[in-house]
Amino acid sequence: MEVKSAYIHIPFCVRICTYCDFNKYFIHNQPVDEYLDCLIKEMEDSKVRDLETAFVGGGTPTALSYKQLEKLLTAITRIFNISGEFSFEANPDELTLEKVQLLKQFGVNRLSMGVQSFKPELLDVLGRTHNTSDIYNAVTNARKVGIPSISLDLMYHLPTQTLDDFQDSLEKALAMDIDHISSYGLILEPKTQFYNMYKKGKLKIPNEDIGEEMYEYLVERMKQSSLHQYEISNFGKKGHESEHNKVYWKNEGYYGFGAGASGYVNGERYSNVNPVNHYIKKIQNNERPILESTFPTKSEQMEEEMFLGLRMNQGVSKKRFYEKFNQSIEEVYGQTILDLKQRELINDQQGYLMMTERGKVIGNYIFEAFLLNE
Ligand code: SF4
Repeated sequence: MEVKSAYIHIPFCVRICTYCDFNKYFIHNQPVDEYLDCLIKEMEDSKVRDLETAFVGGGTPTALSYKQLEKLLTAITRIFNISGEFSFEANPDELTLEKVQLLKQFGVNRLSMGVQSFKPELLDVLGRTHNTSDIYNAVTNARKVGIPSISLDLMYHLPTQTLDDFQDSLEKALAMDIDHISSYGLILEPKTQFYNMYKKGKLKIPNEDIGEEMYEYLVERMKQSSLHQYEISNFGKKGHESEHNKVYWKNEGYYGFGAGASGYVNGERYSNVNPVNHYIKKIQNNERPILESTFPTKSEQMEEEMFLGLRMNQGVSKKRFYEKFNQSIEEVYGQTILDLKQRELINDQQGYLMMTERGKVIGNYIFEAFLLNE
């Protein structure tokens, strides 16, 4: 299948958040301009030209200066013809009117903002650089210049966070008539400040039940809004679903550009070298900047098809499964499907297999049931 999506990675942040284990570096003293030159060279050398979706993520792309951002956008739009969604991740305090105007001028049509919470105390705990008024200013700026789709990320199950706190943030986002919300529970990842604090007994995370209660509240509340759920953690107005992320969940191919970026092209899953200096060196030596490359077996591809596809409300297409693997989904997973259906954890409707509401709460358990153990 032809690959029509690309992820472009900017691994720099102005401050490192306490919970973050993404692939990112504190921007100060980093060779940002050199990195951009190499990233542009990687994209150019790829010979990829026509894209349906492009996603610039990080780190935080808006941590770049105006000039750096202009250079990046000029290159992306010179190298690629992007016919559909052109998304940018942004931090609210970095989304000045000038920067958002620049993004609009180069055709960015979707912004994904790392808001996380509207509560100042929680933003402090998370180590975020923005405050509540930055969120309003950023959304106002984006609307003023005419960015057609705005998404906010909100977190739940945070230290000290109560259900009331989460409800309040959600209401504030909805009151702005936002187009899309992604909401994820905190996961304590090793090598984060949060993890160290937790290990030393200095961080209290609400118990699992509260996290589940918050998620269930989220799903119910969104049903009464104009944003419909289309993936475990994603909700959007009609026409505002993330087309780029749907490429991942449908287990389709995408290119990955930049240090640590991963891609899936012609059956190869690869990830680029990290850190930044290693990536720069590889590109400057005219080498492919690959760290790892695997070709998933047919069984692994079928597992991925299930794990990823079941994340979506629409579920896994039986037709697409057959077309990809030349075997029906029942042939491969018949007994598992029967068991999960009997326990009302999955549904089988109109050619798709999807998780029930009950199933979504214990999603990981269901994903495990689709492991093929081969
Ligand atoms: S801004 Fe995003 S990528 Fe950067 S440290 Fe915070 S959470 Fe991580």
